[in-house]
Amino acid sequence: MSTRWTPKWKAIEIEYNNKKTVVCYDETTKLYVCPICSPNCAKGVSTDYSSYFFNLEDLKRHLDAHKEGFWLKKRIRSEEEEEESKISFGEEEGEEE
Ligand SMILES: [Zn+2]
Repeated sequence: MSTRWTPKWKAIEIEYNNKKTVVCYDETTKLYVCPICSPNCAKGVSTDYSSYFFNLEDLKRHLDAHKEGFWLKKRIRSEEEEEESKISFGEEEGEEE
């Protein structure tokens, strides 16, 4: 008995931000897959963990979120570094007293 769902991913081209972008589509389930989360799906490799979308609008919104996410990650990282240097500055000030 097998309940495993094996998607047959097909690489399709969509228009995203006026650029042709390859995403993966499963004809059986009618699901789209994010090419950033699943770079291997275009090669027909099925993925266990990914982001699935029922329509292209949702997928495009997800691609937008990727861009913002990468930008936010960089920003959070530099803020953390700043905080660390602030802490060491505070320690130096304390020694002077
Ligand atoms: Zn994604």
